[in-house]
Amino acid sequence: MKWCCPVFQGWFEQAGKRGLGVFVSTQGNSEPAFILQYRALDPGVPVPRTDSPLSSVSDVNIHFCPWCGSDLRKWYRGGLRELDRSELKVCLQ
Ligand SMILES: [Zn+2]
Repeated sequence: MKWCCPVFQGWFEQAGKRGLGVFVSTQGNSEPAFILQYRALDPGVPVPRTDSPLSSVSDVNIHFCPWCGSDLRKWYRGGLRELDRSELKVCLQ
């Protein structure tokens, strides 16, 4: 994999853990989507009881690398399958 920058690679490797992560989702839409995700909790950890609304996972679609500015779809055209972690995407039900 030829990464656009080491920071993107670092956050891709963190995807699915608590904190930030980046990955590709090919779920649903025909076009692959680059997603910047924030997780408040590690996977499998129960959401604490609270009376306030709480977002345990937040997804933002991005088109350019937030760290080096690369056009992600162009840069990773050949490597989308390796970046595909559709299972991490938030499922809105
Ligand atoms: Zn980058």
